[in-house]
Amino acid sequence: MDDRVLALCELSNDLLFRKIPEDRLAYYVDSSLEAGRSTAALFRGRDIRELYRQNHIEIRYTGSGKQNYGVILRGQSAMSKAGCRVEVYWDSIAALASHSVWEGQSLTAEQALDIHLAHEFFHIWEFQQGRSIVDALEPVTRFQLLGIKKAAHVRRCEEIAAHAFAKAFLGLPYLPNFYDYCYLITTGKMTPEAFQALMGKMTALLS
Ligand SMILES: [Zn+2]
Repeated sequence: MDDRVLALCELSNDLLFRKIPEDRLAYYVDSSLEAGRSTAALFRGRDIRELYRQNHIEIRYTGSGKQNYGVILRGQSAMSKAGCRVEVYWDSIAALASHSVWEGQSLTAEQALDIHLAHEFFHIWEFQQGRSIVDALEPVTRFQLLGIKKAAHVRRCEEIAAHAFAKAFLGLPYLPNFYDYCYLITTGKMTPEAFQALMGKMTALLS
């Protein structure tokens, strides 16, 4: 399961995806993956909870999350100058983990929690550094008419970078959005054929 293909799956959820010229897709995918990996290299060998302590990020555990448009939320993060907090919906994380089945195996709840914490840590780290991969990358033209040109940033690049951070930091075999697809397939919300078709389409767009 190729990182670039899974990253492009994530990018395809961006509202501006169809505004990105096909020959620029690799630029957004590769730059975002690199941002996550290079940040992970700064923290090689460290423990995620230790990073939370050192950076004064509070972890708050609660039972289960609300459903949002049929998607189970793993938690919510609050970022402000006064402090950062990650709220973890433990029951949701455990349920998502047990239903993320591929090749007969599934994530443990602890693994799924670590992925969530690593992913959120990347967002907070970028916030604390006062920069974002989204702003560092070139905007795309959203609208062009009679010499008027409006550009916008591709927000999903931040998600790709956070996935790449979690994968590299935790030494995972796949970009973690793969497990989201496993969950959708296991729970019958997506067919394996639809997933294969999506992967095929994304692979073709990158070649
Ligand atoms: Zn995120």
